[in-house]
Amino acid sequence: MADLNAADIIQEREEFICVNAKDKDESLKCDKDSIAGTVSQRACVYCGARVVLNPVTDAFHIVHGPIGCASYTWDIRGSLSSGPEIYRNSFSTDIREHEVIFGGEKKLSAAIDEIVRQYSANPPKVIFVYATCIIGVIGDDIDAVCKAAERQYDIRVIPVKSPGFAGNKSVGYKAACHALLRLMGENKRGKKIRGINFLGDFNLAGEMWILTDYLRQIGVNVVSKFTGDARCEELMQAPQATLNIVQCAGSMTYLAKQMEQKYGIPYIKISFFGMEDIKLSLKRIAEAMGDQSVMEKAEQLTVEREKEVGPQLAYYRERLRGKKVAIYVGGGFKAISLIKQFNDLGMKTVMVGTQTGKAEDYEIIRSISDEGTVILDDSNPYELEKFMLEKGADILVGGVKERPLAYKLGIAFCDHNHERKHPLAGFEGAVHFAQEIHLTVNSPVWKFVRGEGAG
Ligand code: SF4
Repeated sequence: MADLNAADIIQEREEFICVNAKDKDESLKCDKDSIAGTVSQRACVYCGARVVLNPVTDAFHIVHGPIGCASYTWDIRGSLSSGPEIYRNSFSTDIREHEVIFGGEKKLSAAIDEIVRQYSANPPKVIFVYATCIIGVIGDDIDAVCKAAERQYDIRVIPVKSPGFAGNKSVGYKAACHALLRLMGENKRGKKIRGINFLGDFNLAGEMWILTDYLRQIGVNVVSKFTGDARCEELMQAPQATLNIVQCAGSMTYLAKQMEQKYGIPYIKISFFGMEDIKLSLKRIAEAMGDQSVMEKAEQLTVEREKEVGPQLAYYRERLRGKKVAIYVGGGFKAISLIKQFNDLGMKTVMVGTQTGKAEDYEIIRSISDEGTVILDDSNPYELEKFMLEKGADILVGGVKERPLAYKLGIAFCDHNHERKHPLAGFEGAVHFAQEIHLTVNSPVWKFVRGEGAG
């Protein structure tokens, strides 16, 4: 860990942190389980699985575990739906001491029966059953229970193996991908549909709608969406698409690779956050479709929309130039797009980290961030506070767990996670983002919070 004030960092954490230095080829340790005692900002395996699957709007989600696990629900992961609302419920088996001793399989069967009975007017097509920590400990055979229910009711009941302790959040993403593969099955329908599957957008604040509208405008057919505003039926026809585009690489690259192997669908990575990546992504999608008219329309859309948002972005650039940013987000793709976006706004990224970034993400992060930027993997509150203070950050960009850290220090905060209420993707999202950063970082409140504005 070069040139870093590391005296008060837990020793085992040192390899997960570095100070960017272009002349040093220092690799950052990442993609490992969290170190005990460091109070990782990561969510558990079950939460990782839930965040990927919950946006499937017409699926039922049964949390097989104690009631507390079920509190992790739509209310704190607000992906939007254009139709069904059932996904906003969190069904729980409410496991208690009795089941811990005698097993919870009967209670799970009863929960499935109850759902089928209660919703007989609009019967479930798909039920996802999440195994949480305690289920991993007591060893309920959820495969057998799901299989029996499938036979009894002729619906899909899909187990999601996600005991919270069984690894890190990335393991939960993988469990969700396995559940989605199971849902797609062998797909014997065969006939290819010319179009794409959009992997890794969860329709927060309606972002999927904005992005699929761009694709419609340039003549690209969207076969299915993983998983923002998705329906079970559309996911089942995903194997017939001709291309996968992957935005949230951390959660969906595994699925894209599996679909390439199983269904022969190639994939490309894209990101619709920030002008540079939006333009590049539209171009790459158009090129991958191999259609001249799509390429021309993508070019035209880019020119038109850039012209429209250019003056607004220039206004915010004037007001943000030179401000220092700290970034701590879930995956590598978003951190990379954010660094580019802040560069475009004339701001300086002084600290950047992710919960689940991979070695290749950190290589890109190092190449696009300045010398001296602190880069961290799987960080904790202490490290984040320490480096924000040391580097003099004016704003932290993160999720709900990072918000109080910034506010306690009297530093501005921007929510770029699942709780956000304004779309931050696409051209209009780039303007919302710049506006939000301006409003918070230039708010007079911070000098009062820091005791600089009294009198
Ligand atoms: S860590 Fe275990 S008990 Fe806690 S929310 Fe995750 S699955 Fe549930």
